[in-house]
Amino acid sequence: MRLSEGHGWLEESGMARIDTILPLALLRDRATTDLILSGLDASGVAFALFSPEDELAYGSCAFRLLFDVQPNASTFTDIMRNCHDKRVGPKIGTPVEAFLDMACRKRRSSPQRTFEIDINDGRWFLVNETLLPGGWLWHVFTDITMLKSNERVLQLARDAAQLAADTDPLTGLFNRRAAMERLETDMQAALRDGTPLSLVLIDLDNFKSINDRYGHANGDRVLKHFAAAGRQELRGGDFFARIGGEEFLVLMPGTGLRQATDAIERLRSHMARAENRADLCCSYTMSAGIAEFCGTVAEDLFERADRALYRAKHLGRDRITCAE
Ligand code: GH3
Ligand code: MG
Ligand code: MG
Repeated sequence: MRLSEGHGWLEESGMARIDTILPLALLRDRATTDLILSGLDASGVAFALFSPEDELAYGSCAFRLLFDVQPNASTFTDIMRNCHDKRVGPKIGTPVEAFLDMACRKRRSSPQRTFEIDINDGRWFLVNETLLPGGWLWHVFTDITMLKSNERVLQLARDAAQLAADTDPLTGLFNRRAAMERLETDMQAALRDGTPLSLVLIDLDNFKSINDRYGHANGDRVLKHFAAAGRQELRGGDFFARIGGEEFLVLMPGTGLRQATDAIERLRSHMARAENRADLCCSYTMSAGIAEFCGTVAEDLFERADRALYRAKHLGRDRITCAE
């Protein structure tokens, strides 16, 4: 609009047409640039242009607000130091020098980079960095806070679903599915690190009679009691799961047959003490079979522990037997 008015005024003023060509082109460029700059500001989007020396040549209003750009701050480093000192703008890991080193190494490292930044006020931005001819750097910041919070909600839902899929609802222990997965990973780690690994299969004795005599609800209480006893007696690094009705599994990484036997014996004697089952209607016992991993497949390890358990039952229950 102003351009055409200017054009009209120039013509009316009687200046030669040839003389108006250059200034008019400059005027048009200038007006277009002004419009672009005011458009960038009015858009509310953060944009920034840095010179090859990393001086801030242009920052939209939104950029200046987002990065708390001070009147005396001229370089990328000045801006970042201020953000770090006042804990505004993007979160910057300390020490700030290490952050600046890393950031300056990455800036201008490729024609186009995108990365996310985490703002101190809780927002997230996607940064699009474009390297222009001569080393100029153009940044566009897109607010992705909503996307991030949706992503977080999805992640939490995924974690909850995974936990539910891996958990036995009655006892809160890991279930068979999780146990089989863990067995594979623990076996791989034992092979890789050359460390021992023991597998224990536990079966509560005469559980059918407990149900028959005291009722199913009391049977459930016994199962929960055993789960709590295991949590209390086993070490933090051991993996404890309910893999069937009254069947449990313990994986003991870094533990050989003798140490594993001692640990399970501690659990067995814990259950045998009357004071440890004060809130139960009955006493109960367990039998266990233990096998140490010797480099074979999971089925073989499982079968050896199962055979040992069968022997414990056969020998009269309430005991622990090791695989040969
Ligand atoms: P053994 O000493 O030979 O193992 O005898 P057992 O009676 O424990 O073995 P059996 O396999 O004959 O019986 C297991 C019982 O466990 C039968 C089943 O009803 C019971 N059971 C399985 N799951 C649950 C459960 O979630 N709650 C309760 N209360 N009982 C269960
Ligand atoms: Mg059983
Ligand atoms: Mg049983």
